[in-house]
Amino acid sequence: MTCNTSPFNWVSLCSVSNSIEANLIKGWMEQQQIRVRLQGEALNGAIGDIPAPETQITLLVYQIKLPLAKQILLEYTQQQSLGDDWRCQNCDEPNASSFEICWLCSTEKNESTK
Ligand SMILES: [Zn+2]
Repeated sequence: MTCNTSPFNWVSLCSVSNSIEANLIKGWMEQQQIRVRLQGEALNGAIGDIPAPETQITLLVYQIKLPLAKQILLEYTQQQSLGDDWRCQNCDEPNASSFEICWLCSTEKNESTK
């Protein structure tokens, strides 16, 4: 058995540009029983050594978990991109970001009024 065919080979899931987001995704994955390893994060931990803003952190997952991890990542990014709660333009009712229409009056969410 070579490393390349092992289901427990670490493979790249995605890259993010800051460690906060990397750790958010890591925590999210671990909630779903997926182990995540971060690559590219400063390991020396030197205090005062501020990482460059363009630092790329690669998230690694076991190859066997990659399809599941990708699905979870998609759900995660969809949730992020939905953004904040919105207010109905018709009845002024606050709605959760996951709602596409107002729960009260069924008016469609209007992105431009965000
Ligand atoms: Zn409404």
